[in-house]
This record gives sequence, C-alpha cells and structure tokens, in this order.
Amino acid sequence: MERGISLERAITLVEMEKTELSLERVNIGKVFGRILGNGLESKVDDPRFDNSAMDGWAVRKEDCSLAEKTSLEIVGTSQAGSSITPTIGPGQACKIMTGAKIPVGANAIVMIEDSEMDGKNVIISGPARDSYIRHKGENLLKGKEALSIGNFMNAASISLAATMGHESIEVFRKPVIGIISTGDELVKPGSEIKDWEIYESNSFGIAALVQKMGGEPICYEVVTDSLDRLRESLNHAAKNCDAIITSGGVSMGDWDIVRKLMELEGEIIFWRVDMRPGGPPIFGKWNNIPIFGLPGNPVSSHVVFSMLVCPWFSASFGTSENQNPSLGKKVRVKMLDNVKGAKGKLCLRRIRITSGQNGLVATTHTHQGSGNIKSMTAHNGLTLLPPGDNASIGEIIDAFWFS
Ligand code: AMP
Ligand code: MG
Repeated sequence: MERGISLERAITLVEMEKTELSLERVNIGKVFGRILGNGLESKVDDPRFDNSAMDGWAVRKEDCSLAEKTSLEIVGTSQAGSSITPTIGPGQACKIMTGAKIPVGANAIVMIEDSEMDGKNVIISGPARDSYIRHKGENLLKGKEALSIGNFMNAASISLAATMGHESIEVFRKPVIGIISTGDELVKPGSEIKDWEIYESNSFGIAALVQKMGGEPICYEVVTDSLDRLRESLNHAAKNCDAIITSGGVSMGDWDIVRKLMELEGEIIFWRVDMRPGGPPIFGKWNNIPIFGLPGNPVSSHVVFSMLVCPWFSASFGTSENQNPSLGKKVRVKMLDNVKGAKGKLCLRRIRITSGQNGLVATTHTHQGSGNIKSMTAHNGLTLLPPGDNASIGEIIDAFWFS
C-alpha cells in the first residue's frame, strides 16, 4: 500500500485498475453520450452524386459571361429526390434545387438571386460557379472509416453515423458503478429529520457524475457506521458492479469504517493523496473489484471524483485527456482575486472562470469550506495550484474548467 502520494501517482495507480468493457449494439437514436467500440466505415459515398449547393440554374460555364447578361433556354428542372437526370446543351439552362443531381452537360450553378425569368428563357446576371457543385464522395468515400474507436457519440457523430447508413452501432457497454454512502447521521432527502441528522446528498451528486462520465450508477441503501453492514453492502455491490464508490468514513476518526474494513479485509492500493480538499481518499479492491473510498465532505467527494475517478473511466473506455466524456478541461486563467495555496498539497480552490478581454479570468466567491456544496454551484472551476504556491491578483495559473 502507498500512502500520502501525489495526484499524478494516484492517477497512474487508478488507471492500472481499468475495467474491460464488452461491446453492445445500440440503435443510433439511443447512442447519445456513448463511446464507439469499433471504427465505423461509410456504406455510401457522400455526396452520393454530384449535386447543387444552391437553388438556381445548372448551366455551362462557357455560356455565361459576367460582362453582359446572358439569355439561356430553360429545358427542365432537376429536383432533389427525382430519379430523372436532365441534360443540357449549348445555350441552355436547367432549373435546379439544393441537393438535386447536376444535369448531364452542366458544369456550373448560377444562384436563383442572380437570374430573372423571360418567358421560356432565363436571363443570367451573376456568376456561374463550379464551386456551387458538391462532388460525389468529396466528404466520405464508401468503405472508408470516418469515425474511429473511442469516439464520443455527440450530436455531430450521430448525424455522421446516420449519413453513413448505420441504423445501429457497436458501443462500449456502460460500466456499472455501485454507490454506497456511509454515516449514522444521514437520512434521505424528503424524510423526517431529527436534530442530529442531515440529508444525504453525496450519492445523488456522485450518481450524476457517473452518468456524465458514461457510466450506469446504482445507488445502494445508505450504510450506518457498522462494519458488518458495510461488508454486506460491499459484497453485494461487488457481485453486480464494475467498480464501487463509497462516500464517507475514510479519515482517522473512530467511526471511519470504510478505511477500517479495507484495512482488515480489503486490498488497499493507496490511502491519502496530497491534495486539498479531498486529502483522505482510499483506493483499492474489494473482492477484486476496484473501490474508490471518497471523503464524506460533499465538496471533497465531488473534487476527488473529478480528479481521480474520471481517469479510471477514460482508461476503461480508451479515450484520452480532453476527449469526451469528461467533466471539463485543463485551462490557463488569470486570477482576479488572491488565492491561498496549501503547504505540501495540490490546492483545488473553487473559482468562477469567465472570458476576459485577453483570455480566461477567474474570481472566487462564497466560503471555500469542503462541507459547503454551495461553493460548487457558485463556481465553475478549480485552481490547480502546485503544493506551496499561492496565486496573487494578475497571476496566470493552471485551472480545471468544468463543462
Ligand atoms: P466523514 O468522511 O464520514 O467523516 O464525513 C465528513 C463530513 O461529511 C461529515 O460532516 C458528514 O456528515 C458529511 N457527509 C458524509 N457523508 C455524506 C453524505 N453522503 N451526504 C452529505 N454529507 C455527508
Ligand atoms: Mg462518516
């Protein structure tokens, strides 16, 4: 077991415990947010045939001079979805709609705005451009890969998969994450609350973070501070999940049962990371399943998830940093407030990042305590202040910007 390690070292150890994810076939109407499990080849050329990028007239460029207006004989219409391809000869034009096939003999398009009707003729008063023709296969070639393995299926990728003719695609199965909150003081939001109790909140936030990272959360019943209850819950979760996340009970207190049970019966890979907030996380295995023991303070659990659990998802999906799914990205910001760092620890103060005139700027608001979850809603980023560093007004520092 390693103890009191840097965040970089902790991430390396977490990534080594990535999970293997099998593939499943999902209809493209339901793949938003999923990760592509195989490279995807196009079933068709795109465009499928030479077609017009404009509503206008298909013409022969050599018939149209810019110096004077040209009168061309209208020979028909080319319409998107029509199986007929008209033909034009010298001195002739064919009306054409966006996306319609280019008539045989035509090599340029005149925009409808640059024309005027004159009985059976059309008077051309603007340029005839070949650049208004979209050529067969210029975007996609049949049989060629256009989306690669590990691609995050966002709106554009879904449209592209459909353009390529795929009704369903193979994506990585969602990792199933068991979430267990611990603490005698916790009660469900909405239930009656006694003077010494608080509403349990971490499992809900963590479940949302899991979903954002492309996982499937299962929230188990809150476990009271009892080793037997925790053991039972962990054994159950380990049978059904790819990883387990607990909240609370990882510090030095007498009732810190996650740490105690892990010491007695689990496999601890590391305990404590040199970061603030979120110093006491524990990582290891329970019945051979990775287990993240997050601190109970609500801000700490969010921050540790963002810094430590996210890399486990990325490693399991085979996606790299700054690729989706992610909770945000590393940026450089100019501080508009002073921020105090932490001796010997990476300091993750909550900051609000906005765009300034010369790049991103950051301010701080609200109390920064790790029990104050409101500080996470009042801010949208974290400082990444190296151990011992403070940041003064005007300084440019590394930060994490939540998306
Ligand atoms: P612990 O890590 O168990 O010592 O808890 C640290 C602090 O976080 C205590 O004030 C707890 O009451 C609080 N806390 C622990 N778990 C949760 C939870 N699931 N939801 C909200 N607050 C919690
Ligand atoms: Mg506790």
